[in-house]
Amino acid sequence: TQDLERKAKKVIRKLLEHGYEAYMVGGCVRDKQLNRPVKDYDIATAAKPEQVQQLFQRTIPTGLQHGTVSVRMDDCLFEVTTFRTESGYEDFRHPTEVQFIDSLYEDLRRRDFTMNAMALDIDGHLIDPFDGVNDMKKNLLRCVGDANERFQEDALRMLRCIRFASQYGLEIENQTWLALLKQAPLLEHIAMERVRMELERMIAEAAPAHAVQLLEGSRLLDYVKQSLRLADLNQEKLSGDWSTLNDPLLKWAYLYLSMGVSAAETEQELRALTFSKQQVEQVRQVIAAAHELSRQLALEPNEDGLQQAWKLTVISYGQESIVGLHQILQASPGVLTELGVADKWSKSLITCGLTWLKDMPVHSLEELDLGGRELLARLSKPAGPWVSKVLAHLLRETALKRLANESDLLLAEAERFYESIIQQE
Ligand code: ATP
Ligand code: MG
Repeated sequence: TQDLERKAKKVIRKLLEHGYEAYMVGGCVRDKQLNRPVKDYDIATAAKPEQVQQLFQRTIPTGLQHGTVSVRMDDCLFEVTTFRTESGYEDFRHPTEVQFIDSLYEDLRRRDFTMNAMALDIDGHLIDPFDGVNDMKKNLLRCVGDANERFQEDALRMLRCIRFASQYGLEIENQTWLALLKQAPLLEHIAMERVRMELERMIAEAAPAHAVQLLEGSRLLDYVKQSLRLADLNQEKLSGDWSTLNDPLLKWAYLYLSMGVSAAETEQELRALTFSKQQVEQVRQVIAAAHELSRQLALEPNEDGLQQAWKLTVISYGQESIVGLHQILQASPGVLTELGVADKWSKSLITCGLTWLKDMPVHSLEELDLGGRELLARLSKPAGPWVSKVLAHLLRETALKRLANESDLLLAEAERFYESIIQQE
């Protein structure tokens, strides 16, 4: 970080040397004040974008219309943005007009929260016209200026408000909170992708429980473009220990499991939220595994049935999903209540689940000592749907240790099972 800061200062110094005011602004100033690690240094300057482009050899026109040029300095990229004001937020998100200006103060005034509206000059002097430091000391998140206006200008700020409050463990200042409650319906104007990006960060960060509490308390999610089951989030059902869930996608699986939402409905919703295919699939598998487990257990609700249900879930949904589900159970032992799994079974799963997993001689078809091709060749029967039926049977029998994973034995069982299928048909 220090190295990054040194390079940011090189950019600022060069601007200053050419007569342009320049400062560090936004998140990096906030995080430095809080002694938190700084991810990226944003620079604000009086220089116009063309002037920035002329001054530095290597630049990228990241967002010229908003005044942003990325400057490469010793292999690091810095966003350099011309001081600006914004006006005419007709779509409740984007300003229709951006004006480049000379005043740092006006540039800070257009920003969302007081702690995000501070600047640092090259000598380390803080410029804090809206008392951001004082608010941070009081643990308060406060809009710059009139909160109602700020949320009307850009409704995304309401989600950012909840994200920052949870991320930084802040209380939302009263006027800001009242404005948020009042302006919440404007959230319908925000693209689902932006909604997802903020939610993703809330859930991935250190205090998702706080985010859930604020989402529930504000009812913000009642108002987004597409109706979401997530709007029913209930912190009481999410009282587990989030901190043990390292993979953010497991946190998402936990959210939906806690509400008893099906795998198909979760998939649909995550797609509406524009999660990637891969992300959706990972969450869906964990949830589907949980439902399969509960279905299998209901068929034989006793200790043996539990172990069998667990192992059958492994062969259907894979080890990764089951290990994920186990982590969610550890974090929140009551998470399967909505799916009808009694607490005592969940406790057994937490204790024995990983042992049972290790105890399985095979977990997937790939580990079976008899492949589909070999099966076809050795049985010398025409290919057909029977092949996958036979393999599934062999996998199940070996996984449950009723059959050893040795090709000759597998083949003998395959022949026997094949005959029984044929007779049934
Ligand atoms: P982080 O990058 O950790 O999310 P950040 O404060 O850097 O925090 P960014 O979204 O990168 O957040 O924005 C940089 C700065 O731009 C913010 O600190 C804030 O001053 C300003 N800003 C960003 N988005 C908005 C917005 N929607 N409305 C007003 N100001 C904003
Ligand atoms: Mg940032």
